[in-house]
Amino acid sequence: MNSSQLPHPHTLDTLAALSQETDYDPDSMSVDHARAFIRRCMEPMCSVERVHLRDALGRVLAENIVSAIAVLGFDNAAMDGYALRFADMVRGQETRLQRIGVSFAGHPFSGEVGAGQCLRIFTGAMMPRGADTVVMQERTREEKGVAILAPDAVTHEGQNRRFAGEDIAPGVTVFTRGQRLRAPELGMLASLGIAEVPVYRKLRVAFFSTGDELVSFDATPAAGQIYDSNRYALYGMLQQLGVEPMDMGIVPDQPEALEAALTAAAAHAEVVITSGGVSVGEADFIKAMLERLGKVLFWKIAMKPGRPLAYGMIGNAHFFGLPGNPVSAMAVFYQFVREALLVLQGQAPVMPLPTFRAALTTPVKKAPGRTEFQRGVCEMKDGQSVVTPIPTQGSNILSSMSRANCFIVLPMDSGNQPAGTVVEVQPFDGLMG
Ligand code: AMP
Ligand code: MG
Repeated sequence: MNSSQLPHPHTLDTLAALSQETDYDPDSMSVDHARAFIRRCMEPMCSVERVHLRDALGRVLAENIVSAIAVLGFDNAAMDGYALRFADMVRGQETRLQRIGVSFAGHPFSGEVGAGQCLRIFTGAMMPRGADTVVMQERTREEKGVAILAPDAVTHEGQNRRFAGEDIAPGVTVFTRGQRLRAPELGMLASLGIAEVPVYRKLRVAFFSTGDELVSFDATPAAGQIYDSNRYALYGMLQQLGVEPMDMGIVPDQPEALEAALTAAAAHAEVVITSGGVSVGEADFIKAMLERLGKVLFWKIAMKPGRPLAYGMIGNAHFFGLPGNPVSAMAVFYQFVREALLVLQGQAPVMPLPTFRAALTTPVKKAPGRTEFQRGVCEMKDGQSVVTPIPTQGSNILSSMSRANCFIVLPMDSGNQPAGTVVEVQPFDGLMG
């Protein structure tokens, strides 16, 4: 068993409780219900490691970051110009001040600016003692060591001056545990002089495809065989989420082979994801096997595409059994597994997929009783968000995912929708990069 895994009494207890709950209906689970069930079983499970800033992009912070210093560290000029005492400015007229020196960025002026004096200063250069304000150089001219400032070139004390601690005050919590580090955070950490950060170790996710009909693209399909596409779509979705994917290949529909693959996967990863083999016809022998290896619940989700879903624990690993149809596998991944993997990685908070509203350009067919995730193309027309469903909506038609840029989410109870109906869409942007 790998050392980074934490024990899971919480998840096992929750799973046991879930299967007892009176509203637990494995034969027609609503999308919201399944999502909430899975969420209850999730807690962060990765140990902590320290990484250099260069390796920190997309990683999840494992501790709060408190600033030891102020950023900016000292008052400095926001403009090229002259530093002076605001009180010396003559209202409504030119002001003449004696220039006593210069402060460059990185080369401060060591003296003090007195009454009637000013200092040539450049952006980012330290404010000299005595001066409180900067006049921008475009409002000045200089004659024989005297700076001549245009009337009312500044209007208040402190203008064009940056104050120490303006960006980050010392002692404040700059970032919190669970935050995912993006480019601005890397820059801010560098500005605090921090070269290494504590992050959660990458979540290891082992995955394989099941099915006697599948071959890898390095083999030639025999009659009745197809290339395995799910493993690559899954690999892409996993990479997008910042986990460490472990590709375990294709496993035939044989109990011994499946058992060996599941056992090996659970021993090496925190999460095991399979595709195929969880639909009604095939599920029985897998169910019996999973009962022996761990605790797994089988659900028929009231959604289209993507009805069957298995979730549970195998050994110490979370297990997700996705449906085999390529569109179903992707839809189930985005609606359930994505959020779960974010929680397991330690990210907090984890928000649901963002949605917005758009008007249908064509009617859609929809049977009440299940939530549908139709693939659509969303665009702006005449200042309005509109969405057009892809004409081929079969759960085996992977090109529908590729041609689409969003899911059109049609709620459980809704029926056919005429053109013009305003519907909810989940953009793929940010999901697929
Ligand atoms: P299953 O869920 O195993 O009953 O598979 C449902 C459908 O999805 C069948 O048509 C399978 O051939 C197909 N399928 C299953 N796994 C894959 C895969 N990895 N790549 C492409 N198609 C698949
Ligand atoms: Mg199969």
